[in-house]
Amino acid sequence: MIDFPTNLAAVYQRLDHFDPVHYARSRNFIDGGVSYLSPYLSRGFISVPEVYFRLKNRGFSFLELEKFVQELAWREFYTRTWFKLGDGIFQDIRHPQADVLSNRIPASLLKAQTGIQALDLQLAQFPKTGYLHNHIRMYLASLTCNVGHYHWSSPATWMYYHLLDGDLASNALSWQWCAATFSNKPYYANQENINHYTKSVQRNTPLDYSYEELPNLPVPEVLKEEAAFIPQFFKRVSPNLSINTDIPTFVYTHYTLDPQFHAGEQGNRILVLEPSHFDQFPMSPKSIQFILDLAAQIPGIQVYWGEYSDLGIEGIFRDHPINAHFQGIREPYPFLNPDLKGDFPSFFSYWNRLKKFLEKA
Ligand SMILES: Cc1cc2nc3c(=O)[nH]c(=O)nc-3n(C[C@H](O)[C@H](O)[C@H](O)COP(=O)(O)OP(=O)(O)OC[C@H]3O[C@@H](n4cnc5c(N)ncnc54)[C@H](O)[C@@H]3O)c2cc1C
Repeated sequence: MIDFPTNLAAVYQRLDHFDPVHYARSRNFIDGGVSYLSPYLSRGFISVPEVYFRLKNRGFSFLELEKFVQELAWREFYTRTWFKLGDGIFQDIRHPQADVLSNRIPASLLKAQTGIQALDLQLAQFPKTGYLHNHIRMYLASLTCNVGHYHWSSPATWMYYHLLDGDLASNALSWQWCAATFSNKPYYANQENINHYTKSVQRNTPLDYSYEELPNLPVPEVLKEEAAFIPQFFKRVSPNLSINTDIPTFVYTHYTLDPQFHAGEQGNRILVLEPSHFDQFPMSPKSIQFILDLAAQIPGIQVYWGEYSDLGIEGIFRDHPINAHFQGIREPYPFLNPDLKGDFPSFFSYWNRLKKFLEKA
């Protein structure tokens, strides 16, 4: 079972052993050479430019890195979309989702009993691992939204809750991409596709149809039972904070947890975890513990469970949609090309411009 260590040296070791050439050939397969870096990227513990330039320094050419950096660019595109639309990313963006029959979640997803063995295997492990391969996430979204006709929003909340790499932009927008509310056609995966990429051999399932047949089938029995996803409630209390008002205060969130942020400078360091945010976007105790373990890598950091506005300070923090309401000094978010400005209506409108920059960089 993949694990996600929380010390910085182990994260760099993971990055330094990653093979982007093998990745390009194998990433779609369940046992492919994926990087397992997303939990660190989502938490802002490492940044996309840092990953890219560290790989370049190992001598890889742009061509060798292209597939991997294109995936990293998806993350940037989604983050930019979040900056642009704010909470608008939690609504159907381009078109309303077609043919929705339920706003809940299939009970079979929660019970890991969809009848698709390759998915059930992953679903059963999911709360323990906090991770799913990209293809499994896509298969689940296809099954839920396009075969089961559930609206994407509740299933996305459930998946986000368990993911160690939970990122509201990558999550909501990937679900919306699959459900065709942020793309032009719904994504379907049939049993043959699942068998190929998960190396399974199952037949005669509710997905064992051609791509012509699949969109026109009635909802399979196994997806009919609806459930409400009820996240585990937890209440946190903060120890009393000690803030020295004579020195600056560096403010972190669970999306901007960079150990290099003003490292070595004298200052108060506070990780702000706002209950109002977690009420709306709950995360599992495992994910919260992961955040706290990453934070523990930042010397002197104090954890504050409370609203930023109640702190009564004007801190220094890295810009991110999660802290759009913070007052203080906002420092730039680390994009691969921070000078790339404009409106990017589609991923490829972003990627084509970024690619030109990276080829020359
Ligand atoms: C329904 C659904 C929900 C998702 N929810 C999240 C989420 O909450 N958080 C999250 O980080 N990613 C999410 N993804 C994107 C993607 O599945 C994960 O980033 C990826 O699987 C993480 O594993 P990895 O780091 O080993 O990926 P790798 O394949 O090694 O990719 C490297 C990096 O590229 C980026 N990336 C790769 N694929 C995508 C993609 N499709 N969209 C955006 N960025 C991508 C990620 O930063 C990832 O860490 C979701 C995808 C789908 C289809």
